[in-house]
Amino acid sequence: MGQKHPMPNLSPSLSEILQSRPWLRYDSDAALLFDGVRLHDVAAQYDTPCWVFSASMLRARARALKAAFSDRGQPISIHYAVKANDHRATLTILRREGFGADVVSGGELRKAIAAGMAPSDIVFSGVGKTDAELTLAIQTEIGVINVESREELHRLITLATHLGKRPKVALRVNPHIDAGTHDKISTGREGDKFGVDWREAPALSRMAAKDPHLDFIGLAAHIGSQITSIAPFEAACQRLAGMVTDLRADGVPVSHVDCGGGLGIRYHQESPPDIADYAQAIVRHLGPLNVAISIEPGRWLSGPTGILLTRVIDVKAQPAPRSDFVFIDAAMNDLARPALYAAWHDVLPLHARATQRPEKAQTLAGPVCETGDILATDRILPPLSRGDMLAILDTGAYGAVMSSTYNARPLAAQIMIEDGKIAEIRPRQTLEALWEAERLPDWLKAE
Ligand SMILES: *Cc1c(COP(=O)(O)O)cnc(C)c1O
Repeated sequence: MGQKHPMPNLSPSLSEILQSRPWLRYDSDAALLFDGVRLHDVAAQYDTPCWVFSASMLRARARALKAAFSDRGQPISIHYAVKANDHRATLTILRREGFGADVVSGGELRKAIAAGMAPSDIVFSGVGKTDAELTLAIQTEIGVINVESREELHRLITLATHLGKRPKVALRVNPHIDAGTHDKISTGREGDKFGVDWREAPALSRMAAKDPHLDFIGLAAHIGSQITSIAPFEAACQRLAGMVTDLRADGVPVSHVDCGGGLGIRYHQESPPDIADYAQAIVRHLGPLNVAISIEPGRWLSGPTGILLTRVIDVKAQPAPRSDFVFIDAAMNDLARPALYAAWHDVLPLHARATQRPEKAQTLAGPVCETGDILATDRILPPLSRGDMLAILDTGAYGAVMSSTYNARPLAAQIMIEDGKIAEIRPRQTLEALWEAERLPDWLKAE
């Protein structure tokens, strides 16, 4: 189910938006509360645009996910996909909940360690790992390196031999399964750039298992992101389970299976699977194998736990039937997903008093000089005017991490809340920081 371009009649009412998100509500003064904190106060203190993350929600989701497996008597290692939100505060919370980290670059590997993650709790899944990154992973003795190709396996053997180490490796398999998600976040189809063709995997596994410089532990698969049905997970687990059985029959010991991430959340009108059903699917197929099972969720954990606060700069009226353009101070450089994937994010006004006015379709546009800089198209909202503030919802994953400074727009502030406490976890970038690392060549310095 690809994310289609939204139609105006698909814009949910404010009460529908609230209904599926119990962590958001309006107080008796009609001010929007996020996990108990008045967002208006946060905007007043830290200005807009600004990200707000709820630590308590993240903790609660982490615990619920663990419980979905422990309720089924299934031990599980959960490696949080750092790329979804790599702030050290996020990593610290998840580390304390017993989670490890799934990293896709040397930078993320170093950052996970900087947040206190034990190297043995780190999985490295990058698709194009450099020799320097592989060397770092080998030398820090991380939990497992998920190898992406025959060529990478050979490089890894060379490096491990040279370093005199025996890294733990798993083979990332491309199971040729269509996860039914957006084209740009599908990773497990034939022709996608990720993983080893599953038909080639048995031979490579045998080779890896025989190599004295590697500690081959098993298989991994990650078929895509924002997956909203159980069937693709079932299919991937089934394929992995079959491969484990075949490898063992062939005398290759397999002690570990990593099912990747990808579990989707409700952004718009999706109905993603319940975590109980997700856990059940994994346990049903992999439980009987007696392997150590791990997963790598990113979006499911952090997505709903963040919002982006923004303020209306101006409204540009359009002749009917076109929606008016509402220019806001957040843009595609802050939140790239709408421009990148035509992604939908629901929006709530920070003050509900506006709801007494008749609602109308409006398009929220950022100030960046790109036609694609539209954060929400044709949304039924109370008529907005200059100074009104809005919350763009479900931006805790693939939000702040994808920000850029395009159009010389500094990175927005990041705020974390927990039990009514409010902390600025990353101050708004200063304008000077945008150019202070630049150097002029000598020949331009003369004048
Ligand atoms: C991105 C990624 C994940 C996390 O995906 P989500 O959809 O955020 O759960 C997990 N594993 C790998 C290898 C990834 O690249």
